[in-house]
Amino acid sequence: MTKTLTHFINGKVVEGRSGRFHDVYDPSTGEVQAKAPLAATEEVQDAIAAAQAAFPEWAATNPQKRARVMFKFKELVEREMDSLAEMLSREHGKVVADSKGDIQRGIEVIEFACGIPHLQKGEFTEGAGPGIDMYSMRQPLGVCAGITPFNFPAMIPMWMFGVAIACGNTFVCKPSERDPSLPLRLGELMLEAGAPEGVLNIVVGDKEAVDTILTDPRVEAVSFVGSSDIAEYIYATGAANGKRVQAMGGAKNHAIIMPDADLDQVSDALIGAGFGSAGERCMAISQVVTVGDETADALVEKLIPRVEALRVGTATDPDADFGPVVTAAHLAKIKNYVDIGIKEGAKLLVDGRDFKLQGHEDGFFMGGCLFDHVTPDMTIYKEEIFGPVLSIMRANDFEEAVALPSRHQYGNGVAIFTRDGDAARTFAAKVNVGMVGINVPIPVPLAYHSFGGWKRSAFGDTNQHGTEGVKFWTKVKTVTARWPDHSARDGASFVIPTMK
Ligand code: NAD
Repeated sequence: MTKTLTHFINGKVVEGRSGRFHDVYDPSTGEVQAKAPLAATEEVQDAIAAAQAAFPEWAATNPQKRARVMFKFKELVEREMDSLAEMLSREHGKVVADSKGDIQRGIEVIEFACGIPHLQKGEFTEGAGPGIDMYSMRQPLGVCAGITPFNFPAMIPMWMFGVAIACGNTFVCKPSERDPSLPLRLGELMLEAGAPEGVLNIVVGDKEAVDTILTDPRVEAVSFVGSSDIAEYIYATGAANGKRVQAMGGAKNHAIIMPDADLDQVSDALIGAGFGSAGERCMAISQVVTVGDETADALVEKLIPRVEALRVGTATDPDADFGPVVTAAHLAKIKNYVDIGIKEGAKLLVDGRDFKLQGHEDGFFMGGCLFDHVTPDMTIYKEEIFGPVLSIMRANDFEEAVALPSRHQYGNGVAIFTRDGDAARTFAAKVNVGMVGINVPIPVPLAYHSFGGWKRSAFGDTNQHGTEGVKFWTKVKTVTARWPDHSARDGASFVIPTMK
């Protein structure tokens, strides 16, 4: 039977009132398994009001107590790891082991947030002037919001609310309407962990909910992760409404393969990073750039049998390398890109378009695809495909290989595979991309560093989590203090104070 999902507002499970719903599929069977409510403006306003009411007390809660809630939340998420991973896989389609990775990366941000008493400390200068001390403090902003994509329904909400709430803010999270069950459960677990009602609210919705968040004057800051055109809209609209905004967008992550690279290691890396989660990762490697034709030919020979041998299965099949993609519409979009690639002259070496999983013929499955001889003018190079499609482009030399990711509209991640330290070092310094891997295919920074791409992969100037995250979710106040000392009275001054 089709379930009806809810919102989580002010510490309570709340039914949707708008009368609008979004179909949530089981991508492995193609069936609608649930109806997600799409919040009307008033329902989002209820969540914002709950967050606003909860803010003064939460902001005044000392940082050690806030950290203890985070510790407890981490324990609860760990306790439920198996059931949460299964819930995530059934809505998203990624295999259970990968869902556990998604949740684990979120937990790691919560672990980082447990250090908030230290992270949120200000600075102090004794004797900044005669009898004057100067100190700064990082204060929470107030009501904050996060708008998240379908592809990491555990990690990305935790990137945002984990740090924001630890800093003393209260939060409204608007997860993707395609797989909202996991974020809804995280809301309940945060309450169980001891966060007061209203500190974390989860509202499921679409553009109407997003626009309410972007225009409501009570919301101080908005973090967004999703596709680039929407990210740009969020950034522009949020900023026009006076909010602090960070908006992460799409990607086209290149892997540069130098002639001296170990091609067995490279093919392991490319198969995992290109096809894991059916390529539905913003840090998936989708574009390989080989330096020299010989490298390309040798690599292609290794990759073809491995792409052909990929095991596609249901999200709960423990032996599957990857599962179905998220919706039938997304599947059609990916296959259309493959058709366009062929039409534009790329050579399709492995064709996974007609793959059907026996017994699951209506599931949103496709096999891995491998293209060679892709060129910079092709649509499949210029745009993000977000599916199990790996493309190879042949560059003549190192300079050309560095220029390709540097000039691309996206600048999320990039990797170089080489044994040459000098080439790797020069590449890391020169490439115009935000996150760089050296013989590491998916260089997602750990929680205590910061995640963020460049160019159309991120709008705004502050990254997710790490100390950048603490900066995004707090504002600095600087105090200059002098206590009465009658012996040092120096009369009125009409000149700007300096230290001359
Ligand atoms: P999406 O842009 O369709 O949706 C993201 C969020 O925006 C969802 O919550 C959705 O409800 C909302 N939304 C959708 N259309 C909207 C509209 N017209 N107005 C306002 N809000 C709207 O993205 P998706 O398909 O859920 O996720 C995949 C995309 O996210 C890919 O492009 C991927 O590269 C990107 N992504 C980027 C990162 C990163 O950190 N750079 C991480 C993960 C995913």
